[in-house]
Amino acid sequence: MTASFSLTSPPAPKTPRLRRGGWSWGPVEGAKLRVLSLGAGVQSTTLALMAAHGEIGPMPDFAIFADTGAEPAAVYEHVRWLSSGNVLPFPVVTVSAGNIRDDLHTILSGQAVSTGGRAASAPFYTHGRNGAAAPLRRQCTSAYKIEPINAELRRMLGYRPRQRIPAASAEVWIGISQDEIIRAAPAFENWIVNRHPLLEQSKDPHRDAMTRWDCEQWLRRHGYEVPMKSACTFCPYRTNAELARLRDTSPADFADAVAIDAAIRPGIVRNAKGTMTGQLYIHRSLKPLDQVDLRTDEEAGQGMLMVCEAGCGL
Ligand code: SF4
Repeated sequence: MTASFSLTSPPAPKTPRLRRGGWSWGPVEGAKLRVLSLGAGVQSTTLALMAAHGEIGPMPDFAIFADTGAEPAAVYEHVRWLSSGNVLPFPVVTVSAGNIRDDLHTILSGQAVSTGGRAASAPFYTHGRNGAAAPLRRQCTSAYKIEPINAELRRMLGYRPRQRIPAASAEVWIGISQDEIIRAAPAFENWIVNRHPLLEQSKDPHRDAMTRWDCEQWLRRHGYEVPMKSACTFCPYRTNAELARLRDTSPADFADAVAIDAAIRPGIVRNAKGTMTGQLYIHRSLKPLDQVDLRTDEEAGQGMLMVCEAGCGL
């Protein structure tokens, strides 16, 4: 499956997309697949390792990592380590709907602006009303993460595209921690049930639901390194602190984000009433990324809190 990437912001759908699947507190009875959605950040890594240590169960059949092709090098190194066979007692399956960075460059070169189908906008910022920063509609998470993951789960369950799958066939673990509880939600598909085992830890009388800090402590206590936050290098949801960390610890990845930021500047923003040209930016200050003072407290986005459950940042 090849995802398309467009700088267009299509009109909102007339009817909101409904979440038809469930959300389970504990294992889903009768599920045919038990899968860990591996974003490869702190929370999903902790989840995978806690399962490996027998602290959360039943053991997942596999973890699934949706590769956008634009994660920092350290995230790929971390996924290689988790997939090595020496760390987790279950396999890590990698799926991809294409390389979001390459797709972006293809669109910018004018080769594939008209996709005739789905557009996969990243939430880049442009000038909204009164000149204030306004994000484009985000579709990248769905196109590059949710859809390839769901397609693989469907294939593993033995169903063809669009074939009806019995309800609650797949239990999907999501690494949402207490401090990001706003992201916890049911699945969109009725054959998937989301489970949030880090929140379930409060069932244990000796534990509370785990926060990101708790996850970091758990990793250190067990002798593991704390991984960096996973997200595309140029993700507009990165906070100033995250961007500064990327710049200081991974200059090549930060340079990649700066290059993408420069490349999207002459983007075309299309709204329901027609087409207008608008400049696009990664940072909500509407400044070129390499000119933003990242020492300030101003955050570049919502710190991934509004990103979907498919693994961005987790
Ligand atoms: S990390 Fe950011 S840019 Fe990448 S898919 Fe997720 S929301 Fe989109």
